[in-house]
Amino acid sequence: MFAELLSVFEVAGQTLLKLIPISIALGVVFALLTHWSACNPGRPWWRKREIATDVLYWFLIPLGARFVRIGLMVVGAAWLYGIHGAEGLIKFYDNGFGPLAEMPLWAQALAFLVVSDFLTYWIHRLYHGVRLWRYHAVHHSSEDLDWISAARFHPVNILFGTIMVDVALLLAGISPNVMLWVGTFTTATSAFVHANLNWTLGPFRYVIAGPVFHRWHHTAADRGGSKNFAGTFPLWDLMFGTFYMPDNALPDAYGIEDKSFPEGFGGQMVYPFTR
Ligand SMILES: [Zn+2]
Ligand SMILES: [Zn+2]
Repeated sequence: MFAELLSVFEVAGQTLLKLIPISIALGVVFALLTHWSACNPGRPWWRKREIATDVLYWFLIPLGARFVRIGLMVVGAAWLYGIHGAEGLIKFYDNGFGPLAEMPLWAQALAFLVVSDFLTYWIHRLYHGVRLWRYHAVHHSSEDLDWISAARFHPVNILFGTIMVDVALLLAGISPNVMLWVGTFTTATSAFVHANLNWTLGPFRYVIAGPVFHRWHHTAADRGGSKNFAGTFPLWDLMFGTFYMPDNALPDAYGIEDKSFPEGFGGQMVYPFTR
């Protein structure tokens, strides 16, 4: 039991050790970029409203997600393939399996990105529906939208959004070795699309999600908030008619209608269950 507890701390420590230098780098880079090309000039990110809440999410969400992902991978392997025990699991997840794992690692990473982005596009649309909105409202509650707001998600949203999709793809045979690259890429892009930058990305706006593209998603529903659901590839929005980037205009007001929405982490955790 003690050894297990120790390894939990070890995994938590590893996650934080990886996250801290990345966070410092992102904080410095986006402070400089926002200084030169803010979408909404005003306070720097570290003086934004609810900064403590966002910092808590920034570190707790990846930590929690990692443990839940590992747990689901263990349960999934047992349930679908009858694999039990540490040795069997290590072998099973070592390099992926089946036809998908035959592809070169870069192709597996690309396949992972494209398929997971397509699935999360639709899951994101479901979260904007009447029943699930209460969970997703947490993500939309940032009024000072900046890169550090990127991890503000209710755990239910993360579980039935990204984690389930990640685990499904790993259980389909994609090598977990892609996660190092894919994980770093998605952390960087999600921080990037939430950053306070006026970057439309010009013609590349149709290829990859950028700050202006996603900041429109955070505006009120009648102004663009029910558009731009893609996490990485705006292709899905173009295909399914939800792409929205008006010329000569920048998004400027964010948040949700509920003005009594809790500002703290704890209040936001229980919010969906009080509706
Ligand atoms: Zn949304
Ligand atoms: Zn967002």
